[in-house]
Amino acid sequence: MTHTEILEKLSDAVKKGFGLDESVLESLEEALLEADVGAETAALLTDAVRKRAGSGERADLASLREMLVAEVEGILARAPRTAPSSEVPLEVVFLVGVNGSGKTTTAAKLAAREVEAGRTVLLAAADTFRAGAIEQLEIWAARLGVPVVRHKEGADPSAVLFDALAAARSRGVRKLLVDTAGRLHTKKNLMEELAKMRRIAGREVPGAPHQVLLVLDATTGMNGLAQARRFVEGAGATGVVLTKLDGSARGGIVLAIYRELALPVVFVGVGESADDLVPFDPADYARALLEEEVGEAAPESTAPA
Ligand code: GDP
Repeated sequence: MTHTEILEKLSDAVKKGFGLDESVLESLEEALLEADVGAETAALLTDAVRKRAGSGERADLASLREMLVAEVEGILARAPRTAPSSEVPLEVVFLVGVNGSGKTTTAAKLAAREVEAGRTVLLAAADTFRAGAIEQLEIWAARLGVPVVRHKEGADPSAVLFDALAAARSRGVRKLLVDTAGRLHTKKNLMEELAKMRRIAGREVPGAPHQVLLVLDATTGMNGLAQARRFVEGAGATGVVLTKLDGSARGGIVLAIYRELALPVVFVGVGESADDLVPFDPADYARALLEEEVGEAAPESTAPA
């Protein structure tokens, strides 16, 4: 369900009901659930609207929308903001998440942003497990003209990181982007491996890793979110890159991330090319989630089949 559909559904409900009655509130909660905002968030938003309605407000669609936008903005404002680390001489950024979420691609996209801004960057191919991950990163690196530190497939990811940190320092690059594994070849726990990598980074570069970006595939919806929680607890994620929002994904997942992971969305992936990565803007998002010309969309949905 897209944001337009949320509004269409609400518009229908508002027309059939009398102002803001229970049937409208039910439709609202349903629409929010279908948009993947998550059960807790859907209930919270609906309750907030119910409270306002209880205080005698007779809402039409426009005021309902305004109430929701205000509540959504409230949710987005509560997550901690990632501290700008442009002041450090070498910024170390880890990309973590399950296989297929888009870590390698996102590492390349982030590198492209640095190149674009005229800053120096180094890639570390520390996903030594997934077949082809190292080559994939090398192809991106060659295309972008960015150096990459790699070992053989199956090598110790911490050893790759160690070498990459040394290379980054000796070359004096501004940013080190570390692609990590979504799964390990050994029985060793992935979270333990990531914890070890964080310790190594911190020992070699003060304050590192400065960011641990959890890469999350938007199309996996609430299931993906449950998996993601492990990376928040185990890998110390500081922010989210939400990938594949160009597909059929529902934008509501952003709210679920803020509410249920308490992490800010930093970037959004909107395609497979190097420039398909955009900074996330909470204010724009809150408006866009519930803004469309409903008045024009409505006749279609009320027309006889
Ligand atoms: P990894 O296993 O986490 O490193 O995932 P990859 O970086 O290999 O990405 C898995 C697949 O998702 C690849 O085919 C990517 O091209 C694709 N992908 C990554 N980000 C996006 C995105 O924002 N939009 C779309 N449409 N595809 C993406």
